[in-house]
Amino acid sequence: MNVLVINCGSSSLKYQVIDTDSEQVLAKGLCERIGIDGRLVYQKTGLDKEITDAPMPTHKEAVSMVLEALVNEKTGALKSLSEVGAVGHRVVHGGEKFTESCLITDEVIKAVEECNDLAPLHNPANIIGINACRELMPGVPMVGVFDTAFHQTMPAKAYMYGIPYDYYDKYKVRKYGFHGTSHSYVSKRVCEYAGLDITKTKTIVCHLGNGSSISAVDGGKSIDTSMGLTPLEGLIMGTRCGDIDPSVVEFIANKDNLDIAGAMNVLNKKSGVDGISGVSSDFRDLWAAADNGNEKAKLALDMFCYRVAKYVGSYVAAMNGVDDIVFTAGIGENDAGVREKVLENLTYLGITVDKAKNDATHGDEAKISTDDSKVAVYVIPTNEELAIARETVALI
Ligand code: AMP
Repeated sequence: MNVLVINCGSSSLKYQVIDTDSEQVLAKGLCERIGIDGRLVYQKTGLDKEITDAPMPTHKEAVSMVLEALVNEKTGALKSLSEVGAVGHRVVHGGEKFTESCLITDEVIKAVEECNDLAPLHNPANIIGINACRELMPGVPMVGVFDTAFHQTMPAKAYMYGIPYDYYDKYKVRKYGFHGTSHSYVSKRVCEYAGLDITKTKTIVCHLGNGSSISAVDGGKSIDTSMGLTPLEGLIMGTRCGDIDPSVVEFIANKDNLDIAGAMNVLNKKSGVDGISGVSSDFRDLWAAADNGNEKAKLALDMFCYRVAKYVGSYVAAMNGVDDIVFTAGIGENDAGVREKVLENLTYLGITVDKAKNDATHGDEAKISTDDSKVAVYVIPTNEELAIARETVALI
């Protein structure tokens, strides 16, 4: 079956068409600058990328252009839209309501809307994308796959914050975690790859990308993860600060005369390795600057890796052990230097890195620890679109 996978941001829409029998991508691309002017990037597998500038006042025009491109006589990946068997939508926040993916109905859309408070930038965009697809592809089954769902197995001791219980009762303030589709996919895939019994395996997944998070997966279930109520908690990221003393918010707001939104903007958009180094949020730029003697870029890299190693250590404690550690996402898959620096702090676990293997691994599946390493370390590229397509087919 062909599944159209849709991932809507506030002004963007990423898409892929996946043939779920062969698990091949037939076409992919994105719409950018929705509501500003509009640009469609479309690529049929095997052909060059096509870029078309065209007005996209809303996500509806964006979806409409994607569908037209998919059935274009010359470069379309499909002959007609009837070849799309289902649509899988990434939905960022499912709150406590969604513990797994589900078929989209009017009731589901209402329940997702009720989670809007928890992800005010993302959920409304996801719903607009869902509604646009329902209007333009009536009768095609649609599935919502939630970033938070995989982490709903966390126990209360992991997801509750040390603040008055009333905030949980009244407003559901708690840790939810994100990147769930990736943590779920990678924790399963590593067991297939390494021939492990998932029900008996303790895995730590390090999803290190522009947004980064770590999860502790015990017996296939997430029991803790580093992101929280929002994606701001946990690791130091591209532009997000990760864990800090909450008093910093008040302190910088007072000093710089900022309101709460202004201070939060600093923590979300101007912090992380970008804010520390003053160079870039991209790790390739950071390494280049560090190699040229830029001390702040070096510090940003040190801080990032130190925080990852500390989280790994804490998740070993959370699971009372670990069998394997997995690196994934842009940095985790490609950046051998970051992996090496993180693992330098974990030799106490009996980890020995296969340096040649680590250095040679960029974007492919590999074991990067030696055979006698007490804990195995892997690189497993994430594939959130494929995971969404699989969930979609399973549900319909
Ligand atoms: P993601 O959010 O998973 O797409 O990851 C994006 C980030 O991965 C970029 O901002 C870079 O910091 C990092 N990245 C991508 N490719 C490489 C590479 N070849 N080497 C180091 N870092 C990379």
